[in-house]
Amino acid sequence: MRVYSFGEGSPEVSVVFGIHGDEVSGIDSGLDIVSDIDDGVIDVLRPVQFVFVNEEAYDRGSRFCNVDLNRVFPGSLDSDVFEERLASELLDVVEGTVVLDVHSTVSYSGVFSCVSSRDMLVENSELIRCMGIDTCAVLSDFDGEFMQYFDEGLCVEVGVMHSERAFKLARLSMMQFLSCTGVIGDDYGFDAVSEEIDVFETAGCIEGEGVRFVGDNFSKVGSGEVFGVRDDEEIVAEELFYPILMSTDGYSEIVGYRGEYLGVLDDVVGSCE
Ligand SMILES: [Zn+2]
Repeated sequence: MRVYSFGEGSPEVSVVFGIHGDEVSGIDSGLDIVSDIDDGVIDVLRPVQFVFVNEEAYDRGSRFCNVDLNRVFPGSLDSDVFEERLASELLDVVEGTVVLDVHSTVSYSGVFSCVSSRDMLVENSELIRCMGIDTCAVLSDFDGEFMQYFDEGLCVEVGVMHSERAFKLARLSMMQFLSCTGVIGDDYGFDAVSEEIDVFETAGCIEGEGVRFVGDNFSKVGSGEVFGVRDDEEIVAEELFYPILMSTDGYSEIVGYRGEYLGVLDDVVGSCE
């Protein structure tokens, strides 16, 4: 793990990338911003750190060394498993800071923000609104994820791994976050944007080894509609759902997650309070 700190005093904001060593869009964009700050191209107004997490996996060109880091939080310093120690070290580094955790997917070319629970959605709704991203997913079906353990912040998925667009979206999301948290000034053109944000929540996974997903993430699949194909067999939805993180190649045993549409952010937050 490598940490780059800027500004006076201990960091109040953290940009985290490379939890998965193969998600190079976030890693390259994070390191680009680090060198822009080093070169004086970007001025830092509030202490910030950039955390390149699984450098060891990145060096091997793989997602992880022993186990998926984003399934083993909070981890333990005494563990024999590399990623379990790394999880614990990362939580220590980001403690007390506002966090942006950047990922990319194999399933969706757009950008969306994510949180781990409705509580986290409510607590961070102002920041989510400020990011200017019009889709937010509440990923309540995961265990051991980093975002379940940090105090404040959110996660973003910036698009398809290795794509040109994902590099752009990663940098854009990081700069927008730095602007939202007051690390950089308004003069970079990343002013706070407030839009109508659609909120979805996962409600279990859809199993299916070898299924080719033929729908679109966050687009409604009606009851009786075909959303996948296996050999010559069509896979039909038993009831209406919204696919989240669904893909042909993303996971081996599951197609992805069955999502529900919760409404627009302001209404969802209003009903939770
Ligand atoms: Zn990831």
